[in-house]
Amino acid sequence: MTKITFLNGQFIEHENAKIHIEDRSIQFADSVYEVVLFHKNKLADGLQHWQRLENSLAKLGMKMPYSVAEFDDYAKQLFNLNKLETASIYIQVTRGVCPRNQLIPQDIPQTVIMTVSPFKVPSTDLNKTTKAMLEPDIRWHMCDVKSTGLLIGSLYKQKAADNGCDDVIMHRDGNITECCFSNIFIVKNSQLITHPTDNLILAGITRATIIELAKKLNISTVERKFSIAELLNADEVFSTSTTTFVRPIHIINNKIMADGKTGNIAQSLFNSYINYINQ
Ligand code: PMP
Repeated sequence: MTKITFLNGQFIEHENAKIHIEDRSIQFADSVYEVVLFHKNKLADGLQHWQRLENSLAKLGMKMPYSVAEFDDYAKQLFNLNKLETASIYIQVTRGVCPRNQLIPQDIPQTVIMTVSPFKVPSTDLNKTTKAMLEPDIRWHMCDVKSTGLLIGSLYKQKAADNGCDDVIMHRDGNITECCFSNIFIVKNSQLITHPTDNLILAGITRATIIELAKKLNISTVERKFSIAELLNADEVFSTSTTTFVRPIHIINNKIMADGKTGNIAQSLFNSYINYINQ
């Protein structure tokens, strides 16, 4: 079946979806993105994703190209055209096209891209061993913007793979911030701890949902900075993201965490998250 992609208000064959070489996303990474899960005929936490898109755009001085209702509608059409039931959608909004200029052009039409891919809900068996390594967080100071300037994350993901790891956990000034493409939680004495939402991390939509689900399970949560030593002495460590849900981390820098087993809190939050998206 021919894959259909959305580009600037039109649904076209994926192979024919082309943007101009002077789109500012190419020269300046002047663009932001979202990834949303579509499951049970709806976008999971759709509104929160559209709000974060609006927020990312606003921080770069851009507007939402469409209303939330229009975005929802385009997304639904795209899933239908591609005959997808459970899928992820990638949305990217760029400032638009203009001859290379460091000054920001005003009022040029934005470029809007939406692509969809089939998605398999992660298995409930969380016992596959996940390994991570620590690296300094050398990204910029606007990590709250979901920018397409993702080179550090991509270089780190590759470094992890080259070292037989699944992920990199980043730290800044001695504190753990997040993973390359996910947020991180630790559990100590039955309490969940995660970095507060500020300019040093992306405010993950899954992170926020997990905090809500933890409340319902009477698991106490604190949003505060925590150190590398706290990470390495945690009872449980897991990451969260739209595409990986809750992912336990069993080995960090070759140290086996909590006997290398998936902790009870990670497992119960994973189960609650599956129930949540199935509702
Ligand atoms: N942090 C970073 C740096 C990310 O790239 C992502 C996923 N895009 C997340 C956290 C998790 O965010 P979400 O739960 O909204 O997918």
